[in-house]
Amino acid sequence: MTNLRLIVIGSGPAGIGAAETYRKHQPDAHIRILTADDRAPYERPPLSKDFLRGDTDDVDLHPREWFDEQAIELTLASPVSDIDTARRVVTAAGEEYGYDALVITSGASPTPLDVPGGERALQLRSLSDATRLRDSAGSATSAVIIGAGFIGCEAAASLAMRGLSVTLVAPSEVPQEKRLGAEAGRRIKDLVEATGATYRGGTGVASIDGDTVRLEDGTAITADLILAATGVSPNSEVAEKAGISVEDSRIVADADASTNVERVYAAGDVTKTFNDGAGRALVIEHWQDAADQGEVAGASAAGQQARWSAVPGFWTEIGDAAVKYHAWGDGYDDSRFVERDGGFTVWYSSAGTAVGVLTYNADDDYDRGEELIGAGKPVPAGE
Ligand SMILES: Cc1cc2nc3c(=O)[nH]c(=O)nc-3n(C[C@H](O)[C@H](O)[C@H](O)COP(=O)(O)OP(=O)(O)OC[C@H]3O[C@@H](n4cnc5c(N)ncnc54)[C@H](O)[C@@H]3O)c2cc1C
Repeated sequence: MTNLRLIVIGSGPAGIGAAETYRKHQPDAHIRILTADDRAPYERPPLSKDFLRGDTDDVDLHPREWFDEQAIELTLASPVSDIDTARRVVTAAGEEYGYDALVITSGASPTPLDVPGGERALQLRSLSDATRLRDSAGSATSAVIIGAGFIGCEAAASLAMRGLSVTLVAPSEVPQEKRLGAEAGRRIKDLVEATGATYRGGTGVASIDGDTVRLEDGTAITADLILAATGVSPNSEVAEKAGISVEDSRIVADADASTNVERVYAAGDVTKTFNDGAGRALVIEHWQDAADQGEVAGASAAGQQARWSAVPGFWTEIGDAAVKYHAWGDGYDDSRFVERDGGFTVWYSSAGTAVGVLTYNADDDYDRGEELIGAGKPVPAGE
């Protein structure tokens, strides 16, 4: 009998998690990761933090030998252009690869800044992007960061800590006001500004003209370095073209990572995956959740029972401050801000049930929040 063949598309945490887990259950299978990236798998979280600050160069996910030990073949710089689900063949860089099971973990790419001159701004997703950004920072004295999501806040803080004069620009009065609420946004703004960066809220970018960022309120800011951190778009086109079900540009995956097509699984940022704990499909863009979903996909592809039910969560580091978040991530109808000794907690609820918790220097609340959200219980009263 010939050995089973697993193809994984993508070398982020979801792809690596899938390959590693499949290997555990199928020791004799042939496993190949096809990735568009030209670098061996690396961690993205440090790219806006220690790596950008210049504190580390080591972002490898695994040493090169690990892939040999696991007998995982890594094919770099090979973007998959076609999936033929009838023949069970994918095409990458002109080569065809057959599969018995396919796991799609193609992640997301930065959404271009859609204003005149927007292409002038740098972006931050890959190690190559981060290297370009860090090299530019080496000779820059000023920077404008456009977009105050977590990556924008982290990058602004890291560049300010390198000594650059940094302005963080976003349309909301405080960072992430819509997602996390005004009080949480004010505290995140304080953390960013504590690193020396300046937050410029309440106005969007109208255009970029050479080294000048023109804001909608008529102000112009000149900077040596301009970074757009304006969100991501899922890399789902190849899957959609192959007839794999896509909703809101995300591949639709069940809690076991299966898609509408037999022997095709999907995990990570490219998906909208059903979470058994939430009882609904979620869109999550966090490192650990991508890895968890990848493990589910690898196990399911190998014929094991596995489902995604964990409460999603991540930590962000704004300068030296670690802010932690657990949430289903699809909104809330009430929030309560609580001061903590040297920090804070925000409890989020929907229809009386805990759906999120954001903490700074309040780890007990972070752990408790995860339990309450997972159990579908109310947030603590009056704390
Ligand atoms: C700068 C930065 C900092 C971050 N910090 C944090 C953090 O602190 N905490 C946190 O939880 N999350 C963080 N994230 C988010 C986290 O990195 C993502 O949620 C995670 O990487 C998603 O994993 P993934 O495997 O789904 O996709 P990705 O990591 O995006 O990997 C997708 C892979 O697919 C490949 N690919 C795309 N198209 C194709 C194709 N057609 N053919 C073959 N390969 C393809 C790509 O090259 C890539 O290898 C950060 C992200 C960035 C960019």
